[in-house]
Amino acid sequence: MPNERLRVAVRGAVQGVGFRPFVHRLAGELGLAGWVANDAGGAVLEVEGDADAVRRFLVRLPAELPPHSALTGLEPTFLAPSGLEGFEIHASLGGAKTATILPDIAACPDCLREMRDPRDRRYRYPFVNCAHCGPRYSIIEALPYDRAATTMKRWRMCAACLGEYENPGDRRFHAQPIACPDCGPRVELWNGDGAVLARGDEAVRAAGRALSQGRVLAVKGVGGFQLWADARDPAAVLALRGRKARRDKPFALMVRDREAARALCDLDAMEERLLASSEAPIVLLRRAADPRARVCDPVAPGNPRLGVMLPHAPLHHLLFEEFPHPVVATSGNLSEEPISTDERRALEDLRDVADLFLVHDRPIARAVDDSVAAVVEGREMLLRRARGYAPLPIPAREGGPRVLAVGGHLKNAVALALDRAVLVSQHIGDLSTENACEAFRRTISTLQDLYDFRPEAVVCDLHPDYVSTRYARSLGLPVVEVQHHHAHALSCLADNGLEPPALGVTWDGSGWGPDRTVWGGEFLRVAPDGFVRFAHLRAFSLPGGEAAVREPRRCALGLLYELGGREALDWEDLAPVAAFGAPERRTLGRMLERGLSSPRTTSAGRLFDAAASLAGLRQTATFEGQAALELECAATGAPAGAGYPFPLVEEGGVVIVDWEPAFRALISDVRAAAPVPVVAARFHAGLVGAVVAVARRAGEPRVALSGGCFQNRVLLSGAVRALRAAGFEALWHQRVPPNDGGLALGQAAAAALVLREAPCA
Ligand code: ZN
Ligand code: ZN
Ligand code: FE
Repeated sequence: MPNERLRVAVRGAVQGVGFRPFVHRLAGELGLAGWVANDAGGAVLEVEGDADAVRRFLVRLPAELPPHSALTGLEPTFLAPSGLEGFEIHASLGGAKTATILPDIAACPDCLREMRDPRDRRYRYPFVNCAHCGPRYSIIEALPYDRAATTMKRWRMCAACLGEYENPGDRRFHAQPIACPDCGPRVELWNGDGAVLARGDEAVRAAGRALSQGRVLAVKGVGGFQLWADARDPAAVLALRGRKARRDKPFALMVRDREAARALCDLDAMEERLLASSEAPIVLLRRAADPRARVCDPVAPGNPRLGVMLPHAPLHHLLFEEFPHPVVATSGNLSEEPISTDERRALEDLRDVADLFLVHDRPIARAVDDSVAAVVEGREMLLRRARGYAPLPIPAREGGPRVLAVGGHLKNAVALALDRAVLVSQHIGDLSTENACEAFRRTISTLQDLYDFRPEAVVCDLHPDYVSTRYARSLGLPVVEVQHHHAHALSCLADNGLEPPALGVTWDGSGWGPDRTVWGGEFLRVAPDGFVRFAHLRAFSLPGGEAAVREPRRCALGLLYELGGREALDWEDLAPVAAFGAPERRTLGRMLERGLSSPRTTSAGRLFDAAASLAGLRQTATFEGQAALELECAATGAPAGAGYPFPLVEEGGVVIVDWEPAFRALISDVRAAAPVPVVAARFHAGLVGAVVAVARRAGEPRVALSGGCFQNRVLLSGAVRALRAAGFEALWHQRVPPNDGGLALGQAAAAALVLREAPCA
């Protein structure tokens, strides 16, 4: 393995406790070069050297902290080696100009110890917290961060709490959410009518009993409600699926501790660090070959991975003392709506979903969903950036313009570009419901208020009909429009601390192209002053347009039509053809022939859907990307055979990646009854081959992989390894998601480049 450089932003009480000498010593032990410096929120450090040693450093750092230090956050980013030598301790990087709002931090070991100590005054108190842990972003109403500016303002501290709060030597000195059983919030267990069944400790015990009886529990957590059910009990999990109208999408799990996670999944040291971090995200882990604990099939049907998180609120820890088994812990919302935060609202929203409601009276100022992350090729990649991370900044170049980036339409998140940093909001969701749009507007206005931020420009997607675009245009500010895939590519570069030039391989479901067609399988040559569409997947038609997102068989028919015209729509031995009746096929054939409601697209996402459909995996989907996910699952661990051929053809100065030979080979494999995992693996390998072939043709040394398709680990790992083997520098996402949740960061980067050339008056 070549050398790697790792930057770590460390937040917490790490100044004046010997942290920098500790980092120096640890780096020395591992033979790493680098530096460490204090900054406003804690410390920043870089280490460089042997790739394995760098990872050991990251794992040991939080585990071996000097006494009296406490971490509230740790964000690692891998960077290209810069030839660091020796180790330096710098004084300080200078303070940030803006106050930083911390994210919500998982309960710390000291607080948990008190909660379990019968002699402690906070014994079994579910709102125990201190200056090193507890809620932050989800309770802040205004800055400066002070008790009166949080949702804790309604509770008057008792004398004992006030004593701790005012004592500079106490762990709770100025801990704004400080509370105890005498003066703080309380829990209650409600039935579906909102009648109180139990209070305090008895509510927790009764909730635990309800779980063991197969009931669905709505739990008010830190940033919103979760829905809990016994993950071993198929009846409970299927009831939750039925009531939430969530047929197949995998559920996340919460397990009581690391040991319980190890009993379900195989995890390496990096994954374990992430799982047990103070950010406490859901981590996608590989199921153990021979698990010592089991969850029932309906939790994540057919998926070789499980999304697992550890308890992060003290209340969760108490619940696991009553019910020690894995639980499904999924967002407390109705399919695509934002999560519920208020107990009265939840009673309405989740009336038909939950049997019982475990609530408390500490208000949640804003919905902050659980974050989702994975370790890919030895690096962390966030797939949903929310609790534990939002609204922390991503470092950016100094002197950039102040812009508001409004993101896209799906998986929306917004960003504020400040000097030297881009604040990325929590995941807001798909802007297809009124509630989500309201959350979008509210998130923007509160973030702007909190940071006293007045943007000089607003940046949005090129798509004219996105809610976010229309909002951007309504502000009366200069508007910068950024093409969707251009933003993806710049987001990936910014995420890796880089700027153009690069080749951006940006693959997703859809994004508006400047030619007013639907793009989605793009290779963009990105330069500081813009981009050129260097190559793309060959276009095909989607009969019924948007309907194809939920019907992979339509994508397949669109491709078959390209391969063999109307006749191909009668190849009844193929699953997508057989999945339609003859009259439907005639209608679809006419639509394709005349180009009626059959937009042309270069979408890689829809190409995956078509392959999954032809492989016989899935004809209709219950969530976007389901068919592609199943194809990825089928390919996971399958022997890597020869990839299907995707030759490059040049047409009018643009390179076209032609999928026709690949699909002909795929169809003949299917007709020869080749096993699905083989077909799936050959399809992935073929696309990886195409990425490398285009990269060679483009000749850019740096290749940035972005877009929702690169959540697919088989594709991402395959592309990273093949690009490296071919001598390219492969970049992928780390701190923001490759999906549209990362768009706002790319939009902010684009605006910085545009406005650097032509600043607003
Ligand atoms: Zn604590
Ligand atoms: Zn108190
Ligand atoms: Fe996208």
